[in-house]
Amino acid sequence: MSEITRETFDQVMVPNYAPAKMIPVRGEGSRVWDQNGQEYIDLVGGIAVNGLGHANSLLVEALKNQADKLWHVSNVLTNEPALEAAQKLCDLTFADKVYFCNSGAEANEAALKLARKWAFDNYGAHKNEIIATYNSFHGRTLFTVTAGGQAKYREGFEPVPGGISHVNYNDLSALEAAISDNTCAVLVEPIQGEGGVHPATEEFLEGARQLCDKYNALLIFDEIQTGVGRTGHLYAYQGYDVIPDVLTSAKALGGGFPIGAMLTTEDKAKSLGIGTHGSTYGGNPLGCAVVSKVLDEVSKPETLEQVKKTSDTIVTKLTELGEKFGLFQEIRHGGLLIGCELTDKYHGRAKDFVIEGHNQGVMLHVAGANVIRLLPALNISDAELTDAFERIEKTFAKIAKAVNG
Ligand SMILES: *Cc1c(COP(=O)(O)O)cnc(C)c1O
Repeated sequence: MSEITRETFDQVMVPNYAPAKMIPVRGEGSRVWDQNGQEYIDLVGGIAVNGLGHANSLLVEALKNQADKLWHVSNVLTNEPALEAAQKLCDLTFADKVYFCNSGAEANEAALKLARKWAFDNYGAHKNEIIATYNSFHGRTLFTVTAGGQAKYREGFEPVPGGISHVNYNDLSALEAAISDNTCAVLVEPIQGEGGVHPATEEFLEGARQLCDKYNALLIFDEIQTGVGRTGHLYAYQGYDVIPDVLTSAKALGGGFPIGAMLTTEDKAKSLGIGTHGSTYGGNPLGCAVVSKVLDEVSKPETLEQVKKTSDTIVTKLTELGEKFGLFQEIRHGGLLIGCELTDKYHGRAKDFVIEGHNQGVMLHVAGANVIRLLPALNISDAELTDAFERIEKTFAKIAKAVNG
């Protein structure tokens, strides 16, 4: 076979992504090395996935141990790692029941199907409407791009599933105007991640809870990006005075092993009876063995404490550098989900920071064209952060110079 390079991507991959020029080959903690041996500090973590960093020794051990025993059995049989992981999720959250799948979109798909089925079983076919929020992101299946509040992700893919409407995020009166007895679910991200890092107000989430109670609709929290320690709580809802009926988790749940989960209560779970839904890989022993270890580590009070401390350190430093170079009009965050909104002068340039960051040896991410997004590992070390900020300062200086001359 010929040499594998970035050009190979253009030759053999469907062109739905535009990956960076460099190809990473190895990672350790929050450091990553590319094919040429250049080192990067990773502040993206595979988009909120590598919550415990790269090649975490505890996760590697859990995966290798399981790999020697049993890889896959399908759901014709159950398996010990899945039961153990589900038990832990129930112990650590509001949930009584867990459904495992393989991605975030699938977790949301399951949540929306559960809402429809639960409403159908208990109230009848008329109660099928789903309310989501503009600017939200819920995945790329046809149902989830439709629930997502960004038209660009569904344009050209129509016809899409019906019965879904949107209200402005954090606009409680709009939600109140939209909800009715025909509503089966309200779907919300506690912090809009892809949409630009916008945290929900307490008023909005508490109000949504009350409206869902009043109209017998399920409140679904999409915690695919905010979950598994990201905000300094195991799940973001635990920092609010609101308990959802359904919660979806993925991304950091497997620390890099692809897995998703839908969590709900016993009463709601009844509507997904035998044969109503399923997945061949869902609850795969390899993935679930890793999930158990991830949950053990992330739920430790010291891990969650560190998230809050590291978040303060990063936000302070970004504020300082942002002021120095006149870059940001606002920095929004929930724990280690951090979004820096660029000033007008830099609008449209978020991607430039990612590209220059790679030149300087630091990995940054975007949320749209005007927001630089950081989602570092929860356990990023002081030494890694020090290196990261040296490189970020160089990145900012270079771009400021290019723009200001
Ligand atoms: C990433 C993400 C998804 C989709 O997850 P996939 O694993 O890519 O399907 C859904 N919702 C939110 C909030 C996300 O951040």
